[in-house]
Amino acid sequence: MKRYYQKDIETMPVEQIRALQEEKLKKQVKHVYEHVPYYRDLMDKKGVKPEDIKTLDDISKLPFISKYDLRETYPYGMLAVPLKDCVRIQSTSGTTGKRVIAYYTQHDIDLWEDCCARAIVAAGGSDEDIVQVAYGYGLFTGGFGLNGGSHKVGSLTLPMSSGNTDRQIQFIQDLKATILCCTPSYAAYIGESMKERGIKPKDNTLRAGIFGAEPWTEEMRRDIEKSLGIKAYDIYGLTETSGPGVAFECEEQKGMHINEDHFYAEIIDPETGEVLPEGQEGELVFTSLDKEAFPLLRYRTRDLCVLTREKCSCGRTFIRMKKPRGRSDDMLIIRGVNVFPSQIESVLLQEGYAPNYRIEIDRVNNTDTLDVYVELSPDQFTDTVGAITDMERKLSAAIQAVLGIHPNIHLVAPKSIARSEGKAVRVVDRRKLLD
Ligand code: ADP
Ligand code: ZN
Repeated sequence: MKRYYQKDIETMPVEQIRALQEEKLKKQVKHVYEHVPYYRDLMDKKGVKPEDIKTLDDISKLPFISKYDLRETYPYGMLAVPLKDCVRIQSTSGTTGKRVIAYYTQHDIDLWEDCCARAIVAAGGSDEDIVQVAYGYGLFTGGFGLNGGSHKVGSLTLPMSSGNTDRQIQFIQDLKATILCCTPSYAAYIGESMKERGIKPKDNTLRAGIFGAEPWTEEMRRDIEKSLGIKAYDIYGLTETSGPGVAFECEEQKGMHINEDHFYAEIIDPETGEVLPEGQEGELVFTSLDKEAFPLLRYRTRDLCVLTREKCSCGRTFIRMKKPRGRSDDMLIIRGVNVFPSQIESVLLQEGYAPNYRIEIDRVNNTDTLDVYVELSPDQFTDTVGAITDMERKLSAAIQAVLGIHPNIHLVAPKSIARSEGKAVRVVDRRKLLD
């Protein structure tokens, strides 16, 4: 079985990867300086010229860009080639504010699809597979990215898009899909729906899933693996860098390999902007090394994570990123304590609840309140008030032990929390409405 999609690149010695990155970086900085006046101004203001970038470490001389700059330059201000050379536009899902528009030349689409093809092969995919793509198609990058990758691998591709869960299940069964690609929250929903229809994990042909586009915990991974009877692989990306496939998991499932021939990753201190050494947690920053149309340099993702260059037994030499803990703007500050929704998700699943929950934060009498609504599964459901109160108390204590603050737990009836077919929205912060 083929283990790599592009073996020579994926297993290239680290010094060679760095040399390749250095060469591409110098070219890319020149390309951007010459063609993107907005970024040229930022460089001029910092007093850096393309000639100042001689080594990879010189990258720290370049200015950062963030979503703010993309909004300022909306829609075409970051374009680095004539518009007529572009063949596609995609856009962010708009989780946080105004959409970002990304444009691609055919070369850019090709490299993006190669990245997704690497992810599919790393998940054991080949031309023998039937890949059901249940990420949304359209402006969102999930559907088209995995679709293109699946074609490159030569797999039979089912462009399902998200939603219509009955048909998803019917096609998994009738067409014998072997690899499912969608958001982890949708995968959990498909697993739950199969169970309701009496389809056991061993009765479906699926053997792997490639899930990403939103943060998900290890507990969620185990839950999905069990409910669908598959191995679940993580995939990471963002519209600003192409889409999914910037990083992908191999069979080790210990962090995602970053496609370093196309993307240079840095971890910075989000407060000071200082580059942090490998192994420290901070904000992930990407530089697109060879994209033509939308080549962002030092783009601040706001995703918090850790990089490691530890050797991986899969043979890939690309640096790995740990599961992002969430975005810095996902972090909730509740009564002065930093809380990530993923911490709550971990506890819920450890305590035997399904990943159907909603977190609500409010401010009452100048004090922050944290309410967590957790759905009971039909087997957990009981009418006895005493039993429910006991379960709520126990769960509340387990969450308090992790967060250090007391949550109000509300166990609610099966099916009362809306399911997600794309990126799940699990947090309602009412304080934002008050500010
Ligand atoms: P939006 O910013 O509107 O959500 P995108 O669809 O481009 O637009 O989403 C990219 C973001 O999704 C990333 O910056 C990251 O926060 C999140 N994301 C993508 N893949 C993963 C993953 N595997 N794990 C955690 N978060 C992810
Ligand atoms: Zn590996």
